[in-house]
Amino acid sequence: MAKRQFKTESKKMLDMMINSVYTNKEIFLRELISNASDAIDKRYFRSLTDSSLGLPRDEYAITIDVDNEARTITVSDNGCGMTEDELNDNLGTIAKSGSGEFKSDNKDDDISIIGQFGVGFYSAFMVCSKITVTTRALGTGTAFCWESEGVDGYTVTETEKAEVGTEIVLYLKEDAENENYSDFLSSYRISDIIKKYSDYIRYPIRMQVETPRLIENEEGEESDDKSPKYETVSEVRTLNSMVPLWHRKASDVSEEEYAEFYKGHFYDRDAPLRTVHSRMEGSVEYEMLLFIPKNAPHNYYSKDFEKGLQLYSDGVMIMEKCSDLLPDYFNFVRGIVDSSDLTLNISRETLQQNYQVRTISKSIEKKIKSELQKMQKEQREKYEEFFKSFGAQLKYGVYSDFGMHKDVLQDLLVFRSTSSERYITLKEYVDAMPESQKEIYYAFADTAELAAALPRTQAVVSKGYAVLLLSDDIDEFTLSAIDKYAEKTFKNVTAGDLDLSTDEEKDTVKKANEDNAEMLSAMQETLAGKVKSVRFSATLSDNPVALSSEGYISAEMARILSRMPGNEAFANAETALEININHKLSNTLKELFASDKDKLSLYTKILYAQARQISGLEIENPVELSNMICELMV
Ligand code: ADP
Repeated sequence: MAKRQFKTESKKMLDMMINSVYTNKEIFLRELISNASDAIDKRYFRSLTDSSLGLPRDEYAITIDVDNEARTITVSDNGCGMTEDELNDNLGTIAKSGSGEFKSDNKDDDISIIGQFGVGFYSAFMVCSKITVTTRALGTGTAFCWESEGVDGYTVTETEKAEVGTEIVLYLKEDAENENYSDFLSSYRISDIIKKYSDYIRYPIRMQVETPRLIENEEGEESDDKSPKYETVSEVRTLNSMVPLWHRKASDVSEEEYAEFYKGHFYDRDAPLRTVHSRMEGSVEYEMLLFIPKNAPHNYYSKDFEKGLQLYSDGVMIMEKCSDLLPDYFNFVRGIVDSSDLTLNISRETLQQNYQVRTISKSIEKKIKSELQKMQKEQREKYEEFFKSFGAQLKYGVYSDFGMHKDVLQDLLVFRSTSSERYITLKEYVDAMPESQKEIYYAFADTAELAAALPRTQAVVSKGYAVLLLSDDIDEFTLSAIDKYAEKTFKNVTAGDLDLSTDEEKDTVKKANEDNAEMLSAMQETLAGKVKSVRFSATLSDNPVALSSEGYISAEMARILSRMPGNEAFANAETALEININHKLSNTLKELFASDKDKLSLYTKILYAQARQISGLEIENPVELSNMICELMV
């Protein structure tokens, strides 16, 4: 029998499993059980339209057998089974889309991979030296046996099997110095693992269990030995309670149980930041079990990411990812919705028009919002963690669809600000505004720290006003979509018309600009094509120069726009170079204008580069700048 080869990626994954240092190897059982349960679901579905394919409901089961001598564990199910082609397709290739992307050869990565993707069937190779899968597909008479000892391939042979379904025999590895595989042969250990990960599986998971039973002394029997006596009885036990976690009362489920369930069910390494479990009554009755994850999944910001909740009808999964249940801006939420009001054979097309689904999705949206608000109010640190992972999605939600959702989302946003170490909400900002302050100030740079260091930011702060510190590309777009918060407009501190000066200062600046008009226009000529004007300003605090914007697009916004194809035209923001009228430098410039125009031109170029740097923009030509500075030094 010729060996068939695994696909390259599967081979890598297998190799990783076989050499895994992952300590949580017990999860292989969870993976096999959940495959078995899915297979029974599939058979059950098909029997809804063709009853000859099904079994009486109470005959569906998953069975575990342990053979201590042979060191094998056998997991059997009477689900849909697999045809020869399916065997090749399913067990010869990696099914999980995400895991296929894994290209690293670093062995240490296996822990995160196993944690992140859930590796399915292959995880059994963490504990096995050989696996056989004997399976007979629904509606067929022949069975096939898949067999593999790992990376060097597998065989598929025809065989016989009395019943439809799948039987997987796991040949445990020999114990090694720090790995005790024999442990998995213990029925206690197996019961524990099933209880921990697969308790909610809706089909019975049965196993022959040896239990000690007290032998009662026969009445009147004489015995000196008064210690209790036991005999071992062997009985078939059902290991799982079969009640889906979400069918249980929230008050009966512990935090740990939710966390374990979440991790196992949604393949996350970390416990969720928040769990929402409730039963909704009304025109549509359903249960929801929602989780707000701690971290974004690896593909969250790629187009591969699919949002959606799992949809169940009375404990039976009808859809793995029902996207209609979640708005895009809450796409990070994972969870389960179970409603016995939904029919089993609902299709993707009818789903959108489905009244129940629309009702459910509306109330889910409300629920998520109120939970996030609660978390924001009661657990600010946790909320910040959440916001670091998913805040960009909320900001994008404000901006998308022409700002249609801003009322839902704007109070969920939090920002860094000059007023606090913590993130603050817009409401908190506005509530703390002094009477004299009319607008909400913000500054934008690559990092919040750089935004805080901008000359104009410092100038605003020195007036006693707080400044929101933005550093996400989306931030300014989001604020422009919000437009007004509590009747207050937003003002970029670098805006040309930022008005912080006293009347007296204004007069001084106006006069200086008039008196030095020739000098300023000479400087502007030096910077032709780069700035629209050069002028004096009284609002730069200690800084010699700064950039400000003349138009409604800030320099930073223009920079972001210019990165997007087709938007080059915006790149030429209407920028002004401002010179601090209170800085000694302004006198130097005036002197140079009178004595050495070439030097004035050199200074102007250097000052422009400095202003860009202070604003967190790139210096256009660093070599030229360096040469100019040297020229001055020599
Ligand atoms: P996943 O379950 O995530 O798809 P697996 O590697 O665990 O990935 O399984 C691959 C595929 O093999 C499954 O999608 C299913 O089609 C098939 N399969 C696995 N176990 C069984 C089983 N017990 N009965 C029928 N099909 C199975």
